[in-house]
Amino acid sequence: MAILARGGCRCDSNPVRFEYNKEPAEVHFCLCTDCTDTCGGALALIAVVERSAFTITAGEEKIRNIDTKPTCHRRYCADCGCHMFLYVDAFPDHLLIHVPTIDRDTDIGGEPDRWVFVNSKHPMVTIPDDGLPRHPGWAASGDPVQAA
Ligand SMILES: [Zn+2]
Ligand SMILES: [Zn+2]
Repeated sequence: MAILARGGCRCDSNPVRFEYNKEPAEVHFCLCTDCTDTCGGALALIAVVERSAFTITAGEEKIRNIDTKPTCHRRYCADCGCHMFLYVDAFPDHLLIHVPTIDRDTDIGGEPDRWVFVNSKHPMVTIPDDGLPRHPGWAASGDPVQAA
């Protein structure tokens, strides 16, 4: 289904802006230490979007990269520090967008459908009893962990 989701960084002037026009392949909660430690958050909410459906529409010159792993390439705004999306070698045709950087009034084109890297969960976090599958790594890397 055709959608148009827009998002960007937190700059008041000349923000980075992006959009995509196809429903995400998946939307997951990520508990990996790479996401949590980079973002300072207890978890990350990620939309996995086809690279061919994604466009930077403004502020591209402000985007910087940091490789938090040799296989993980995270893009952030040089001015406000907002970490918006990342490229992971395991997903050569997709990029991973941090859903909170998508405009709140936009339809992102999907709902959370799984938890990934649950074995890396911070000890103070409790996963809600939401019935979604829980994976020890990427969803493709192992069988779902049985919900307690
Ligand atoms: Zn910015
Ligand atoms: Zn992660």
